[in-house]
Amino acid sequence: MEQINGARDGSSFSPLEINGRQEHAILTDELDSVDKQRLFLGGERQLYPNSLSSREMESLTALCDTFLPSIDVSDATTNASLVAFYRTSASMAGTPQRVGGLISERLKHPKLWLMRLALWFLSTWIGSFILCGRASLSSQFPYFHSFPQMSQQKREEILLSWSLSYFYLLRMLFKTMKLLTFLVFFTEVNEKNENLSWKAIDYTGPDPEFITKTKEFKASTTIGNQRPNNEEQNACPHEEELFGPLNRGIINLDKPKDLVVDALSTFGIPASVLHSEKTVNCSSNPSLTIRCDAVVIGSGSGGGVVAGVLAKAGYKVVVIEKGNYHARKNLTLLEGPAMDQMYLSSGLIATDDMGVFVLAGSTVGGGSAINWSASIRTPQHVIKEWCNDHELELFDSKLYQEALDVVCEKMGVQSQVQEEGFNNAILRKGCQELGYPVNNIPRNSPPNHYCGWCCFGCKDGRKRGTTETWLVDLVNSGNGAILTGCEAIKVLHKRKKGRRDRNTATGVAFEFEHGGGKEIGFVESKVTIVACGALCTPKLLKRSGLKNVNIGENLHLHPVAMAWGYFPDSQVFDGWPEREKKSYEGGIMTAMSTVVAEFNKSGYGAVIQTPALHPGMFSVVMPWVSGKDIKHRMSRFSRTAHVFALARDKGSGTVNAPPDSISYEMEALDENNLKIGLEKSLRILAAAGAEDIGTHHFKGKGLHVKKANLDEFERFVKEESSRPLRELSSAICSAHQMGSCRMGVDSKQSVVNQMGETWEVEGLFVADTSVFPTALGVNPMVTVQAIAYCTSQSILQVLRRKKFFKYKEPASKQPVTVDSDQSPEENDQLCRCCQIRRRKLNRFMRFFPLQLQYHTNHLLRKSFR
Ligand SMILES: Cc1cc2nc3c(=O)[nH]c(=O)nc-3n(C[C@H](O)[C@H](O)[C@H](O)COP(=O)(O)OP(=O)(O)OC[C@H]3O[C@@H](n4cnc5c(N)ncnc54)[C@H](O)[C@@H]3O)c2cc1C
Repeated sequence: MEQINGARDGSSFSPLEINGRQEHAILTDELDSVDKQRLFLGGERQLYPNSLSSREMESLTALCDTFLPSIDVSDATTNASLVAFYRTSASMAGTPQRVGGLISERLKHPKLWLMRLALWFLSTWIGSFILCGRASLSSQFPYFHSFPQMSQQKREEILLSWSLSYFYLLRMLFKTMKLLTFLVFFTEVNEKNENLSWKAIDYTGPDPEFITKTKEFKASTTIGNQRPNNEEQNACPHEEELFGPLNRGIINLDKPKDLVVDALSTFGIPASVLHSEKTVNCSSNPSLTIRCDAVVIGSGSGGGVVAGVLAKAGYKVVVIEKGNYHARKNLTLLEGPAMDQMYLSSGLIATDDMGVFVLAGSTVGGGSAINWSASIRTPQHVIKEWCNDHELELFDSKLYQEALDVVCEKMGVQSQVQEEGFNNAILRKGCQELGYPVNNIPRNSPPNHYCGWCCFGCKDGRKRGTTETWLVDLVNSGNGAILTGCEAIKVLHKRKKGRRDRNTATGVAFEFEHGGGKEIGFVESKVTIVACGALCTPKLLKRSGLKNVNIGENLHLHPVAMAWGYFPDSQVFDGWPEREKKSYEGGIMTAMSTVVAEFNKSGYGAVIQTPALHPGMFSVVMPWVSGKDIKHRMSRFSRTAHVFALARDKGSGTVNAPPDSISYEMEALDENNLKIGLEKSLRILAAAGAEDIGTHHFKGKGLHVKKANLDEFERFVKEESSRPLRELSSAICSAHQMGSCRMGVDSKQSVVNQMGETWEVEGLFVADTSVFPTALGVNPMVTVQAIAYCTSQSILQVLRRKKFFKYKEPASKQPVTVDSDQSPEENDQLCRCCQIRRRKLNRFMRFFPLQLQYHTNHLLRKSFR
């Protein structure tokens, strides 16, 4: 499939390809292609195919140009890049075509058809009259105008009226079109990986230090020119730096299947291939079957922990991950490609009513690979609530405390910060001026980790997400592998003999791309762990036939409302705020205020933190009142700080499937907490010395703090923080999803028990944020890891009881028993001659259907004894 920002490459070397002396040759040969394919994906980007009709495109182009028109400012400034930025409209930059591609290929929203209908309507005069009202009328012939025929001024008025329309479908249309137009315009790059607006808005693009170091690294390894000639070395010394520490455990199923089987066998994981072409795509006849002790679906914060713990304990573990592996020097650090390739649905997920814009990771490492590194332990009042009100003793147990310690140690969590970035320094200063409490945020990165690009992956592995910790345990143990680009489509479960009450999980069916088509594979396992995150886990369970009514319910989103403050670099007093600091640089989260968190009272309030906003996301959240106004706001991008309030939501939603959709509603209390948080945020920004402050309300009002008197200031703060949140110019943001398969002590009220096992299917565990009993109120990574750690202890007990096979020898030395369901222990009992005969027969049996293979294997096993 063609992509807007480069193909989803995901190519990686199987372990066998980089073994022994051949390694250097292959690796260095490949480095050049890796350089072209992966290091700089942005420059190689292609468009998603655009299937919009010419009528739809006509309206879409008019809409994009209304948001971002061409404006001549050559009279007002001599700054050439600023002039060029103002002069370039969305259509001049090719934005509508790309947006058309996204609408055609990537956007998956239940109301997408309505948007396309609206585009078609707008291309006709009658449809424009229906959607735009009197504004589409003219006193001159032909009296009725379609949307593209109207003047820029009229179109701007119409968009503004939609943004505050009584009809929520018009508000949705406005928010969706604004999001797509801005996200594409400010993230699209040319072949040099540059965007025409970046210079004007003072954005460097990907971390310049990273780019320089990558170039130096390339030069030092003389990629494509000289090859390292030290024949003694078994591994390329730069492999880890270049491809990340998991490279040897990543298996790409687009490779020839025999290679995949061989690669899996090096981890002691048997697999079999069905060579029949006819039945390959039939879900009852997988083209590949893998056998292991445990299959973990999703490699994020929860899945990573379980996979690492089980593999380290000696069990054979297969991780199924629908995203690809991007690590260290494989990263682009470009906002567009990173969102496209590392975020769930390219970062384009919203609730049904477009009220909340939802971000989640979808790559090896899941959210932990792209998150903002805040690593906060489960607050005591939450532990108390989950223990007392929800009767979940787990949270009051020694095991849970130990789990918190273990995961924090593993991630290297610490609270020091050597140098604070722009946003956090402003939050801290504002709080100090006002006497609000402000604390350092513990992070899973070292004190000197001054990087604002971690939201696009960690360039040097110093942010210790699961790709740098638990999944490394998995790979280094030699007991596990990660299958990337594989989407689990169904958990397999069946009624076992002697069990009347519930089914037992037997593995998972997954879909993968092979040879340009889709194929089905099975993993057969003793235990199945679903860790797809709170948005995807309920969908998978529902698709797998689970009937528990709580699946998908109780979804919490930690809604966020933001305020902004502008700190011009010309207005620096006593070195504050430092002139050279930019809004997008530095540790993303280092300071936090609990001034309205209510930790000691109800426990339901809001914490105040700061976001990472690169130009795409910054433009999406900023209010739009006119084309000129947004360009002005964007020109102040690098010195506009953001502070947000994040509510611990009592309100909840539902993940529906099928059709896939998310509904969500805040409670009045949540909205009130956000408003109070917004009020405090405005005060913090002003106290820190902002020249202008404002919120994301559609009217886009700002206050020049220095010129306002106290009354005016108080009125402004009160007015802006008391408006209904549905009047924001963009959707509310959420990066934390939880609770959609909650843990409980009653199967009627919950989906999993305290062991993390589903009430409905034995041997089926859930280990992600979906098991949270309620919203958490702080950043969830540490909590989900701690719960997953406890769940993995329960799984270990189950596995021990099952006496499943454990390989005796280290993985690399094991005989490969492809197509065999015989354990190594059993194999050892055979004489050498029988072992060889058996292996030959197994190879021969590959050509028969799987069912037959298993029956024969069973018989063989008996006869060989
Ligand atoms: C931008 C951003 C910033 C954040 N910042 C922080 C922070 O600073 N601190 C903090 O504590 N939290 C933060 N979070 C939240 C945190 O990262 C998540 O809450 C956490 O990672 C969730 O863990 P999880 O195991 O539930 O799911 P995830 O980590 O989301 O992992 C789920 C994985 O499952 C995969 N998957 C889904 N469906 C399938 C399928 N059918 N088959 C195969 N694979 C599948 C996905 O691709 C994904 O990789 C942030 C999140 C985002 C998006």
